[in-house]
Amino acid sequence: MSRFWTDKIASLDPYVPGEQPQDKKYIKLNTNESPYAPSPKALTAMAAEVGERLRLYPDPNGTALKNALAKSYSLNADQVFVGNGSDEVLALAFMGYFAGGKPLAFADITYSFYKVYAGLYGIDPQLIPLDESFDIVPTDYQDLDVSGVVVTNPNAPTGKALPLTDIEYILNANPNVVVLVDEAYVDFGAQSTASLVNQYPNLLVVQTLSKSRALAGIRVGYALGHPDLIEGLERLKNSFNSYPIDRIALAGAAAAVEDETYLKEICEKTIATREKSIIELEALGFNIVPSSTNFVFAMHPEKDAETLYVALKDNGILVRYFGKKPRIGNHLRITIGTDEEMAALTTALKSVLKG
Ligand code: PMP
Repeated sequence: MSRFWTDKIASLDPYVPGEQPQDKKYIKLNTNESPYAPSPKALTAMAAEVGERLRLYPDPNGTALKNALAKSYSLNADQVFVGNGSDEVLALAFMGYFAGGKPLAFADITYSFYKVYAGLYGIDPQLIPLDESFDIVPTDYQDLDVSGVVVTNPNAPTGKALPLTDIEYILNANPNVVVLVDEAYVDFGAQSTASLVNQYPNLLVVQTLSKSRALAGIRVGYALGHPDLIEGLERLKNSFNSYPIDRIALAGAAAAVEDETYLKEICEKTIATREKSIIELEALGFNIVPSSTNFVFAMHPEKDAETLYVALKDNGILVRYFGKKPRIGNHLRITIGTDEEMAALTTALKSVLKG
């Protein structure tokens, strides 16, 4: 017999995260983590927190982290929200700003979590197709009857970025709803909309320390926006958990944000490796979508993506394969690792492509 809760459980369509194998040491090029260690200053700050003080609750407001972020973007602390990974920030924004009526607009090919949040909050997605070159077309975002718009810039898994003028077009075309710009990968070569926060009260910029700051392990994300939008997120957060970020993560995140020299250094290394890797992958026959991120979206015209994914895994290299989905099912998303890891990828691909 079907019971109310069994139907409910069946209707929950969970997000399937990228593989995080615990058994064997892989070259991990599948979940867009940084191949570099976090800032040494962040490591020192976290180590200092491990001790007697852990008996105390963390600062519920994350004041030191908010101040560090506000300073780095030349904003006020009341324009900054911090959460347990940008996934949590996105979840709160979806609940607070998009649920309860009209559909939510986002690209048909983008971060797959949006559909999951939409499902959880009963929001209908209004999918706006990317064009044949995987570009977002800003004019497709006008005359919408929606509860909000999400723009991922640069987009994932394609890696393509929009110029600020295009984001401004979308902001101006949707003045009465929140336009959330997910900038998880912005530090690898795109322009941030953080500079527009004072001009657009409907702009919510979401970023993470998981990628360019090499701190996926401590789960810290943040939003920048008008104080009213930030206040709304604070109310929601406090209703679920007043302490979303632990003491160790708060200390490490604040130190990492302050260490802009280190951020620049590891982003530049990643970008240089990306450009070299693109040349090498193209020499092996891959079509690569131009990337402004720490990954590339790659397709081999003669080799099926699933076969390549499995063969690479057998060789100890994990990349992201999305299953047999329209348009992206023949692509692999490959995170940019160190030069050595990318050389190992090229060597493995050479032998796989020969076979
Ligand atoms: N946005 C995008 C576009 C992403 O790819 C990711 C990472 N998978 C996130 C948000 C979430 O990142 P985190 O929760 O680690 O901050």
